[in-house]
Order: sequence, then structure tokens, then C-alpha cells
Amino acid sequence: MSTTPKTLTPKLVKKLWLAFIVLVLMMGISYIGITGYFANKHNQETTQRLNAEVANHVIAEKFQNASPFLEDGSVNKPLFGDLMHDMMAVNRGIEVYLLNEGGEILYSVVLDPNDQDATKSVSLGPIDSFIADKGENFILGDDPRSPGEQKIFSAAPYSVDGRNGFIYIILAGKRFQEVSSTLMGQYFARLGLGATLLTTIFAALIGLLAIWFLTKNLRVITSTVRRFNEGDLTARIENPDSSDISIFANSFNEMADTITGNIDKMQSVDLLRRELIANVSHDLRTPLAILKGYIETLQIKRESLTEAEKQEYLQITHDNVDKLSKLINQLFEYSKLEAEQVTPVKEPFSITELSHDLIAKFKVLAEQKQIELQLDNPKENNMVFADVSLVERALQNLIENAIKYTEPKGKVTLSLSKKGKNVEINITDTGTGIPVNEQPFIFDRYKQVDESAKKQGSGLGLAIVKKIMELHDTTITVLSKPKEGSSFIFNLPAYQV
Ligand code: ADP
Repeated sequence: MSTTPKTLTPKLVKKLWLAFIVLVLMMGISYIGITGYFANKHNQETTQRLNAEVANHVIAEKFQNASPFLEDGSVNKPLFGDLMHDMMAVNRGIEVYLLNEGGEILYSVVLDPNDQDATKSVSLGPIDSFIADKGENFILGDDPRSPGEQKIFSAAPYSVDGRNGFIYIILAGKRFQEVSSTLMGQYFARLGLGATLLTTIFAALIGLLAIWFLTKNLRVITSTVRRFNEGDLTARIENPDSSDISIFANSFNEMADTITGNIDKMQSVDLLRRELIANVSHDLRTPLAILKGYIETLQIKRESLTEAEKQEYLQITHDNVDKLSKLINQLFEYSKLEAEQVTPVKEPFSITELSHDLIAKFKVLAEQKQIELQLDNPKENNMVFADVSLVERALQNLIENAIKYTEPKGKVTLSLSKKGKNVEINITDTGTGIPVNEQPFIFDRYKQVDESAKKQGSGLGLAIVKKIMELHDTTITVLSKPKEGSSFIFNLPAYQV
């Protein structure tokens, strides 16, 4: 029985912790990545904005006194060499290029003139935009030393000796990049360490609290389920609606109620079954004992018995065989109904005609007991929609009872009347009646009003009637007053032609 997973909570806690750690790591990595990206971008924007005028300054300062071109039209390399060395000495991240108006690189100290693979030109688009908005906006341009990469730059146009072009200055050149990535690495390492430490401390605290709260209700539920499983059928989750998992708590409580309810039902069914077996065996034994007694007497005293006595004994044995077979039949019928092996075959039929037939069938028995048996309202033809043989069985039991429990000179009436969409069937007698306190129990098998009545029947007749009513989704009511008589009333759906 004890198959409750004992590791339920720890397993869940482990999973929650794992999820938490993964979450913290992911958050940490994203945080570092995002901050790094924006810090870098901010740095680049600041550098570009601060150095936006550098290219203009170069032109204003240097090209006033000396031309960047020699008389033969070639580039004044010494001038440029000095200029660039000066600038790069101040800021080693800077790389200066002299471009013609088409964007072709005319000269730069950072480029090896013999390198065939070196980039020969830069695109003019970013340079034009930079000059147009005076370096106010963040723009990236080609880096001739790292083809395919985009860098921050400063640019300005020159017009000297009829030659036009641009001074193009990469502000975050190779050297800048090297320094920046070393610093970035250190920055990331420090940030990562700090952030990881801080987040781990906070996450551990929050995690502990969250997991404790999350599993609090689970712990209560688990212990209740375990108690129930170990046999404490009264174990229920207290205040299920206030639980964080109220659906589960309520479902468990409902399930526990259903299980205990079913156990109670099974126990009472079991009790009734045992009662039935005890009573049936008693009822079977009595006529059997009588039969045995009379047959033995007939065998032993065959010679000494008169013919009349023999006839009387044979009649008694005959009656007891009848009783036995009726009891066995009823038992068979009842057990079939109870086991739900009977499916009603509903069809339209005339309840008036059926009543006529039954009255005719019981006429002789009633006359023998000097009881007036009659059908009320025999003219109107009432049709119902029901199982004809089951209804016949129920009516038979009710008429039989009415005759059985009515004294001579009494009256038994079967009346039919249309009530809305139903036909009401009423079997009324002027017999012994049933005490009010007994009325609720007469439809339960083996409940007989008093012990003396037990002689007269099996106690199964009304139980069978009740089952037949259930199969027709209807109920039977009894109205009875002791010494005045009883009425058994039920409805069947009328069949509209
Ligand atoms: P039984 O075979 O004993 O008649 P039933 O199930 O038919 O069993 O009836 C159960 C009990 O209900 C009877 O024993 C009797 O006490 C009471 N009962 C049923 N019908 C009538 C009736 N018409 N008048 C008085 N008592 C009745």
C-alpha cells in the first residue's frame, strides 16, 4: 500500500533549484552582455563626438603653411609622416588617411605601400553623411586596416592646389581596439565576478524563500495524502480554498469523500446481501422442512392414513412447492434487476388493456377472498410508453399485495387517469394499511412490517417494483393508514398518438 513517493518534495526542490540556477546564470550572462554592448557603444559615441573636429583641425593647422602635395603631384610624404606621427603620438588609437575625392587612399603611414592586398579605398557614403551633419550623429565608416569592419571616424574635405579630397581619421583603430579589448576583458571579468556574487547571494535568499513558500502547501498535502494512504480515512486537507493549489486540495478532499462514501456503500450493500442470504436460506428451509415432514409421514404411515388425510397432506406439499418456486423465481428476478442485467424495451402500449387483463386474471383469487376487485375509468384508452412486461410484473405484485393484505368484504381498485404528459396508476385497497414509521422501508427487500406478515410473502415483491420504477425513471409513492387501507401510486409517460 505504501507506494507514496517519499522523495516527492526533495525532487521538486531539486528541480526548482536547478531552474533557479539556470535562470540566474542566464540573467547574469544577458546582463553582462547587454551592459558590455551598451558601454562599448557609449564609449565609441563619446569618442566620435569629442573627436569630430580632429580632421578639420588637421586641415586648418597643417595645410595652411604647407601643401600635402609636391610639385610633381605626388603626396608630400614627409609632411604627412610628421603630421601623423605627431597625432598618433598624442593618441595611439588614431589612424590618419589622405583620400582623393573618389575615396581612394592616397597615403597613410599605417598602410604598407607594398601590400597588394591592402584596401585601396573607403566608401564615401558615411563620410558625406558625417560632413553633412557636422559629426553630430554616430556614424561608422570603413576601416582600411580591417576590411569588412566598421569604425568610428572623423573626416573633413580639403581643396588644395585645385585638388580635392578628404582627410579621413579612424578614431578607434587597431591599437585602440587592442587596448579596448584587454580593458573590456578585465571589465567583464570584474563585472561578471561582482554580478555573479551579488546575484548568487540574492538569488539564494529569494530562492530559499520562494521554494519554501511554493512547497509549503505541497508538504501539507503530501502528509495528508500519506495519512490517508496509511488508513486514516478521516484525513482531509484543512482550508483547501486558502491553499495555493486549491484545485488539487479540493480534488483530493472530494476524492477522499468519494472513496469513504463508496466504502460505506459497499459495506452496507455487503450487510444487506448477508441479511438477504440469511433470510432466503431461512425462507427456503421452512417450506423444505414442511415438505420433508409430510412426505416422510406419507411414506411411513401410508397404510394407516385415511384417503382424506392423504389428500390434505398432498395439498400441503403442493402449496409448499408453489411457495418455494415462487420464492426462487422472485429471487432470480430480483438479482437480475439488481445486477442491472435487465434493459427495459420501451414501446407504446395500452395500459387500459393491460389493466383489464390483470383484473380478469386476479378476479378468481379476489372472489375466493370475497374481495371486490375493480378497474376505475375503464372507458378511456390510456396509452403509455414503457416496457410492457416489466409494468405488468409491477402491477401484478401490487395487486397481489393489495388482495393479500385486505380482509374479506374489502375492496381493491386499480384506477388510471391522465395527468398532463403522464398517466397516473393507482392501486388502492381497504386492507390492513401500513404503519407510518414502516412506510419508508417497505420497498427495501426483506423489510416486512411485522414478523407475522413474514409467513405470507418473501418481502421481495415491492423491492422488485421499486427496481422496475427506477428502470423507467419514475418513483412509486405509498399513502397508507393502518386499518383503513393503502394506495400505491406511480406515473408512466403517456404516449401521444
Ligand atoms: P411480501 O412478499 O412480504 O408481500 P412485499 O415486498 O410485496 O413483500 O411487501 C413488503 C411489505 O410491505 C409486506 O410484507 C407488507 O408488510 C407491506 N405491504 C405491501 N403491500 C401492502 C398493502 N397493500 N397493504 C398493507 N401492507 C402492505
